[in-house]
Parts: sequence; C-alpha cells; structure tokens
Amino acid sequence: IRDLRKVYKVGSEKVIALNSIDMEIERGQICCLLGTSGSGKSTLLNIMAGLEKPTKGTVTVNGGKIESMSEKELAIFRQKNIGFIFQSYNLMGSLTALENVSLPLTFKGMSKGEREKKAEKLLEAVGLKKHIMHKPTQMSGGQQQRVGIARAFVGKPGIVFADEPTGNLDSKTTKEVMELMLNMAKKNNQTLVIVTHDPSIAEFADKVVYILDGDIEKIEEKNK
Ligand code: ATP
Ligand code: MG
Repeated sequence: IRDLRKVYKVGSEKVIALNSIDMEIERGQICCLLGTSGSGKSTLLNIMAGLEKPTKGTVTVNGGKIESMSEKELAIFRQKNIGFIFQSYNLMGSLTALENVSLPLTFKGMSKGEREKKAEKLLEAVGLKKHIMHKPTQMSGGQQQRVGIARAFVGKPGIVFADEPTGNLDSKTTKEVMELMLNMAKKNNQTLVIVTHDPSIAEFADKVVYILDGDIEKIEEKNK
C-alpha cells in the first residue's frame, strides 16, 4: 500500500478517513488493524479488498493493482484471490449453510455435486456438520459466523479480510472463532487481515498496525 488517501464528501464537508498510509503485509502473515472507532480501519480494509476506491495512492495485491482494474476485472480478481468476513455475518437469509458456503464456488467451474462436497467439508471443519441444512435465522451468532468463515475460506483465496469478525460474539465464542480463523489461514499459508478494536485479538497476530485518525501510529512485528 503506497501513499493511500481516502476523502469522503458529506455535503460541503470533507472527511479525511485515511490521510497517507504506507504499509505492506507479507504472504501468510496474520495482520491486525487496531484502532479506536472512526480511526479509518474499515475504510482501509475495504480499499485493500477492492470494495472501495481510494482517493489517491496504490494497492497492489498478488501483483495486481487494485485501483487500475475495471469493475469486471476486479470482480474476477476478488473471486479468485479474496475472501471477506463481516461483523454482521452477511449470510444470504434464504439459503442454507451449505448453499451459503457453496456460493463462492459457483464461479470456479465446478459441478453442483463437487461444490456441495467442498462446502460440506468446510462446514464440518468449523464444527457445523449437523447444521448444514440450517438457514441463518436457525443458528446462533457464533454458528452464523462459522458459516461466514467457511464461506470466506472455501475457495482457498490467498487473502482473507475480516472486519470485526467477533464484534457481536461473547468472549468464549470470540476465542473459538479466532482460533478457527487462524488455524485455517496457517494451514494453507493464507494471509489474514483482521480489523478490531479489541487489543486481546491483536495477541494472535504476527503484525499489528495501529491506526490513529487516518494515519499509522506504529507497527509492531512479532515472530521476527
Ligand atoms: P469503527 O471501529 O467504528 O468501525 P473505523 O475505524 O472502521 O471505525 P471507518 O468506518 O473507516 O472507521 O471511518 C473512518 C472515518 O470515515 C470516520 O470519520 C467516518 O465517519 C468516515 N466515513 C466512513 N465511511 C464514510 C462514508 N461512506 N461517507 C462519509 N464518511 C465516511
Ligand atoms: Mg469499522
């Protein structure tokens, strides 16, 4: 990420969400973006994941320049390389756990049978073997987030982004969900970028980037 800036316009007012961000994340790293509410964490994550456009600066992911891709190129790039976990799960309400997790594989040219087999395996790995036919409203928050994790990892993307993935969970479930994400990412050498304001979550990370008012306050690297 080079000289990244994001300015929102609200009426006649300008909101500088990100001032000037320079950082890099290595393949296979668990990186945590830590900062208070409104500091710019979600904005940074969304731009890294290609969900939002920067005002200025560059984001290069696996050699691909996010900001110079067309909408179509970006959509394909995201399907191939990126998984995303949301605070509020964002599952499709009308679909079962199995269908939700199969969905990202639709674009991979697999048969329905293959897709469901893979989805089932992932749901089993997150401890939801008995819940594959459940719809989101028939599951607890922790269970829904496990489905969200299975969905993010099922296509084996190089990078998984997570925005406050445990923000709606109690401390016991938070620990279980965190360990699940870390184990999945480490197993396949996938990069995991987690946004949080919970310092206890940062203890799991190889790299902690502290965000303050749209700038990087400091970066801590562990295991080095
Ligand atoms: P939180 O921990 O509360 O989720 P955050 O660190 O994720 O906060 P951001 O959502 O990135 O913070 O917001 C950074 C700043 O940009 C805030 O001042 C916010 O009000 C502003 N902002 C975010 N999105 C928009 C938008 N779509 N339009 C205008 N301003 C925005
Ligand atoms: Mg946020």
